[in-house]
Amino acid sequence: MISFFDDRQLAHAPLQELHNGGWENYQETAARATDISARLTGMRPSRDFGSDPILAVHSADYIDFLSTAFEQWRDAGRSGDAIGYTFPVVGRRPLNLTRIDARLGAYSFDAATPIASHSWDAAYWSAQTALSALDHVVKNAAPSAFALCRPPGHHAGADYMGGYCYLNNAAIAARQAHKAGLGPVAILDIDYHHGNGTQDIFYDDPEIFFASIHADPVSDYPFYWGHQDETGEGDGIGANCNIPLPRGTDYTQYQRALATALEAITKWGAKFLILSFGADTYAGDPISEFRMQTGDFPRMAQQISALSLPTVILMEGGYAVDALGENVSAFLSGFDHGI
Ligand SMILES: [Zn+2]
Repeated sequence: MISFFDDRQLAHAPLQELHNGGWENYQETAARATDISARLTGMRPSRDFGSDPILAVHSADYIDFLSTAFEQWRDAGRSGDAIGYTFPVVGRRPLNLTRIDARLGAYSFDAATPIASHSWDAAYWSAQTALSALDHVVKNAAPSAFALCRPPGHHAGADYMGGYCYLNNAAIAARQAHKAGLGPVAILDIDYHHGNGTQDIFYDDPEIFFASIHADPVSDYPFYWGHQDETGEGDGIGANCNIPLPRGTDYTQYQRALATALEAITKWGAKFLILSFGADTYAGDPISEFRMQTGDFPRMAQQISALSLPTVILMEGGYAVDALGENVSAFLSGFDHGI
């Protein structure tokens, strides 16, 4: 399988995140990407498709914030990574505040997503990597391509960051695919965590179908999204499908959920698939509680590729770094059609 990556995605390196009541080393490391890329063949450099596809998903004020936040942080006399410490309670009136600390809180929903010196650049190229994989599938009528997106994207909303995510790569690729007339477009998210940002972006949009299989948000991050009764709103009612699963889920249970999600995608009439793939469903993942084994990943991929839809596969989470390259290449092997 042809894969895309840009080295500028490695330069993003926040030091710490707030986790379980303490400061811990940042889990979303550059080593994740190098471990994956070491296992892949057919790697190609990403191309630059500019800001328009990003601005087709994210608000201009959020992009302005994201691209200048680190500079503002430094201008405010701070050292270290930029991170918010106060967040607007839901329902507070929108205020146009200028202090960097207020802006950091206003554009994020957690304290797991600091902005370091190269974060914007890495996020920008992660999005371009997604667009490069999309371009490859379209131009070559390829059955699939893999975008080694890092930082990941599915927790980022139109105007917020969170969960190690800054730009929503899946949403950017999906909207671009839709604009190019490749639709109906569906996004399937099989990361351990619910893709709350992707859901939010398309929640009232009848044109992009979103299905997600994830740890039940009653017990797991991001808590406030991903419940089964969230089916869309307005014109988007029926275009959102959440399948939460309990901690301890193994492949036997998982494949039934996957069959349900794939059936929903088929029923909706999808002609093009964006796949948010997280390897944090792996049993050895340090921050997750499913029980997938390495050998389950190709089976999962085969089940998805049986849809026979052109598919852009985007990297989301996966934090068992030593096993990550093996798990990702095992997954991608399930998509190889000998082409
Ligand atoms: Zn995840």
